[in-house]
Amino acid sequence: MSQYIPYGRQDVTEDDIDAVIRVLRSDFLTQGPVVPEFESALARFVGARHAVAMNSATSALHAACHALELGPGDVLWTSPNTFVASSNCALYCGASVDFVDIEPDTYNLSVDALRDRLAQAARDGRLPKVVVAVHFAGLSCDMAGIAALAREYGFRVIEDASHAIGATYDGERVGNCRHSDITVFSFHPVKIITTAEGGIATTDDETLKARMEQFRSHGITREPERLEGDSPGAWYYEQQVLGFNYRMTDIHAALGVSQLSRVDEYIEGREQVRARYDEALANLPLQLPAKRESRRSALHLYPVLVDGGDTRRNRLFDELRRRGVGVNLHYIPVYLQPYYRRLGFRPGHCPVAEWYYDRALSLPMFPRILPGEQDRVIRDLGELLA
Ligand SMILES: *Cc1c(COP(=O)(O)O)cnc(C)c1O
Repeated sequence: MSQYIPYGRQDVTEDDIDAVIRVLRSDFLTQGPVVPEFESALARFVGARHAVAMNSATSALHAACHALELGPGDVLWTSPNTFVASSNCALYCGASVDFVDIEPDTYNLSVDALRDRLAQAARDGRLPKVVVAVHFAGLSCDMAGIAALAREYGFRVIEDASHAIGATYDGERVGNCRHSDITVFSFHPVKIITTAEGGIATTDDETLKARMEQFRSHGITREPERLEGDSPGAWYYEQQVLGFNYRMTDIHAALGVSQLSRVDEYIEGREQVRARYDEALANLPLQLPAKRESRRSALHLYPVLVDGGDTRRNRLFDELRRRGVGVNLHYIPVYLQPYYRRLGFRPGHCPVAEWYYDRALSLPMFPRILPGEQDRVIRDLGELLA
């Protein structure tokens, strides 16, 4: 039996390990200098004014919703073709959630569907306060289109760029928040770069940055200019809102600083993997990932759509797994989860997302996949689809 090929895998170098060990030998394992160093390096890399590091992208999404003052009575809209964290963040804040259908080629939130739903919601008096644009598989959404609707209807925008560090839109890095209020990245090991667990929120807005910083540390502040009362002494701090402990440690941040220097190298590696798949799979009955003019995808995933619907896809999925090819499926439409069905969502809500879900298959995609491993994936697919 040949070795199992995972769908994604982290790359950890000796430099990464040295960086982590340096922190372990230092005075501060957490709340030290490496977290701010990671924040500045990342903000510089994406071209945003501020970055607030947290212990996961899930925490960063929660902090982003808090900073945008999402609360009971408010609604957040997002794509159903995402990980559950993109919408759970609204529920944490006591707000409700709805889902807008996707495009049939990029599988990102459809601006046309969004425009139609907004017109209806305006008539019903139920406009969203926040829209979360998820850059699925690493390709940016149509952010100019979403931002134009945000201006027209007065909602705020969070980019869930968990798949998309290093990606570009209109020649600029995703995360500079040109078309959004806040952008969130994930550093889980399957993503483009990793801090083991970790996430970050970028923004150009000083107030949003301050709210997220306070929220990640219990809602506490020590900064003299932010105190509500007079400070009786140097020990003094104030809890002003209900926050959490969502801090990133310096150990994780050191891994992040070290990994950040290789984002472009990783994406170039992924581009080579994509080029080989694109060429080798072109004549099979599969819909291959779309490209978009002036958007560079970070290529987190390589999803293909299998002609013939879910029966054929399911057989292919099981047989590839049996042969040691770690295919996966991104994503089950969030609203089909039992928790969301109990909130009242039903099949049929977003037909394109369900059509996609019945056909999708994510192939192994990571920069250090061996040519022989990729050959095996290609050969197995060819045999099984013949
Ligand atoms: C991975 C992921 C998240 C959650 O990231 P964590 O860092 O694991 O909390 C959120 N949204 C999307 C689209 C993701 O892929």
